Amino acid sequence: MDYIYQANPERYANMQYRRCGDWGLKLPAISLGLWHNFGSEDKLENGRNMLHTAFDLGITHFDLANNYGPVYGSAEENFGTIFEKDFKRHRDELILSTKAGYDMWAGPYGDGGSKKYLTASLDQSLKRMKQDYVDIFYSHRLDPETPLWETMEALALAVKSGKALYVGISSYSPVATREAFNIAKEMGIRLMIHQPNYSMFDRWVEDKPTGHGLLPVLEELGMGAICFAPLSQGLLTNKYLNGVPEDSRAAKNSGFLSRGSVTPERVKAAQELNEVAKNRNQSLSEMALAWILRDRRVTSCLIGASRPEQIIDNVHALDNLHFEQDELDKIDEILSNHDLGESSPKVQAHPWHKSADDDNPKL
Ligand code: NDP
Repeated sequence: MDYIYQANPERYANMQYRRCGDWGLKLPAISLGLWHNFGSEDKLENGRNMLHTAFDLGITHFDLANNYGPVYGSAEENFGTIFEKDFKRHRDELILSTKAGYDMWAGPYGDGGSKKYLTASLDQSLKRMKQDYVDIFYSHRLDPETPLWETMEALALAVKSGKALYVGISSYSPVATREAFNIAKEMGIRLMIHQPNYSMFDRWVEDKPTGHGLLPVLEELGMGAICFAPLSQGLLTNKYLNGVPEDSRAAKNSGFLSRGSVTPERVKAAQELNEVAKNRNQSLSEMALAWILRDRRVTSCLIGASRPEQIIDNVHALDNLHFEQDELDKIDEILSNHDLGESSPKVQAHPWHKSADDDNPKL
């Protein structure tokens, strides 16, 4: 940490910024998340390099959560250390977010959606991240045991106390999103943004013939959408086209991606998608991100990375966001020809699916 970081003076030249729903705030089309590779078990200098690379490319938004690590809290702590050294003077150029909702500390107040948990957690996050406020604070998931109004009261308190400028929700179903929005509005605050997972391999947010998709609801409510795991944790990159490399997330068996997630059907689909990408002069990850950003209702793709080069590659997605209809048709055909396992019990066990499937929030 013994050199002085000088941000690239050209950093705003090529990044695209999209308005968050009907709001004034704009986010970069590509944002960086610190879920993996920024914890106490990772190399701090690599995390620092990734943050520099991102910011130098115009990525002004870094996304965290209370329990990112491992160990829980360590990604926020590491971010705080790097922030103090390199980004303090750029604070007003940054959008920082954090969340609470999943398991964080022992006892009855360290998990869920209670006002007690969310309020205490935000205070802890601010200390770890060395911030006076975050730009966005999220309810990380719908808690079926906490009334929605209590969770919304916690978000309202975060805004009214000045600890968060904006608030949002993550992995709430379309029904729960509408309920949450209306309750928050009655309390005098508005939800600005939703953070759902969305990738070619998991399209639950899209418009449905039944009219119950998430994206149309967000559009109607004027909310933005920042889509997490757009590369399906690496499955939609060139990483697993020929096996499972030892330095990959799947080999490390950390988080929710294991060797078992790299199924022959998914690899076959990725190989076929890679051919479409090649014809577009893109890498598979570039095409996977461009495909998400083809929808103007999406504010930002929230990527992860394990090294700076991946961030550079991914930002090249912005060089070509246009798809011909026959390319979109081909992609749909490939995706429907393979069992991608979205409905497998293992995938459905992801906590974010459990939350997003819950259409009966406690009121
Ligand atoms: P991605 O789908 O973008 O997967 C990132 C992984 O893909 C990287 O760690 C890397 O894996 C691989 N990768 C990325 N770019 C490339 C490339 N160009 N070439 C080859 N491989 C590449 O997203 P994440 O799953 O990391 O999630 C992103 C963020 O979303 C998180 O950091 C977090 O902020 C947020 N999130 C939010 C959740 C919520 O509940 N709200 C849940 C999950 C994530 P490898 O390590 O193998 O190199």
